[in-house]
Amino acid sequence: KAKEAGKGNYIVFNTPLNDTFTERMNIEKQLYTAMERNEFDLFYQPQVDLALNKVAGLEALLRWNSPELGYVSPFKFIKVAEDSHLIIPLGMWVLRSACAYLKHLHELGFEHLTMSVNISMLQLLQTDFNELVLDTLQSSGLKPDCLELEITESILIESYEHVSAKLNELRDKNIKIALDDFGTGYSSLSYLTHLPISTLKIDKSFIDSIPAETNEAILLEQIMMIGKRMKMCVIAEGVERAEQLAYLQELGCDKIQGYLFSKPLAAKDMEQLLAGWENSGAASCTEP
Ligand code: C2E
Ligand code: MG
Ligand code: MG
Ligand code: MG
Repeated sequence: KAKEAGKGNYIVFNTPLNDTFTERMNIEKQLYTAMERNEFDLFYQPQVDLALNKVAGLEALLRWNSPELGYVSPFKFIKVAEDSHLIIPLGMWVLRSACAYLKHLHELGFEHLTMSVNISMLQLLQTDFNELVLDTLQSSGLKPDCLELEITESILIESYEHVSAKLNELRDKNIKIALDDFGTGYSSLSYLTHLPISTLKIDKSFIDSIPAETNEAILLEQIMMIGKRMKMCVIAEGVERAEQLAYLQELGCDKIQGYLFSKPLAAKDMEQLLAGWENSGAASCTEP
């Protein structure tokens, strides 16, 4: 490479790889103080039940506004938080805050709502993870069946035996388990038969293929069928267009999550949206 650049030119070290490295370093440095300085926030995105035409639950999504770095996407900082193990206290904060907010919504009269919380592998591997979840539920005064933990398949590859025992224990306590980003990564269909999965979240990449007759569309139909026949709740992520909704409805998809209904919202905005939908008697799309 140096030779190719040749003729006395400098090699400037701001290749994409190097940028990524610097970015990661900056993120890690700022992450350490971000918790103490209250720079994190939770946003919530509705999951709409298509049969009831109602918001059935919310997914809690981390937001980080850093005074130094500006808004940083969770796609970027979650990985860094995992590598530095900061995800453990941060994940606990998410769980506690999401449960407290759900309790608040129940008290406002939205008693039917559930809360979905993303869980990292590192959290699940903590020996006291299940205990912490149960304690959090108890101290927030919530019933276990209104909490759903979203895990990804990457969790499962690494220590399947250990993780499945823990998930079974949580499931026995009535906590729901969702398989997030389903169909991406190293999916194994055998997870579906051996694990206590209550919800399949079909990844946005499949939804994006609608309505084209692509291989993704074929897989989408089959995943939907498997999920339904196994009596799981099937939810489509990243639904943005009315034609996607129509297609999913035809396939018998149970729930929809996506910008078509709402982007993730701050707590106050979510309350307004819920109150609005309650009054009009239905969840409405943002598209005409
Ligand atoms: P995820 O759990 O699969 O969450 C869905 C992501 O898709 C969210 O991105 C959401 O804002 C986005 N999304 C929803 N509907 C649409 C749509 O119609 N169009 C498009 N383009 N995007 C849509 P977000 O909030 O940026 O989060 C990214 C990922 O970061 C999450 O993917 C999850 O893996 C991770 N994450 C977020 N919060 C947490 C957390 O509290 N803990 C952990 N461990 N991971 C988290
Ligand atoms: Mg998720
Ligand atoms: Mg997902
Ligand atoms: Mg994800």
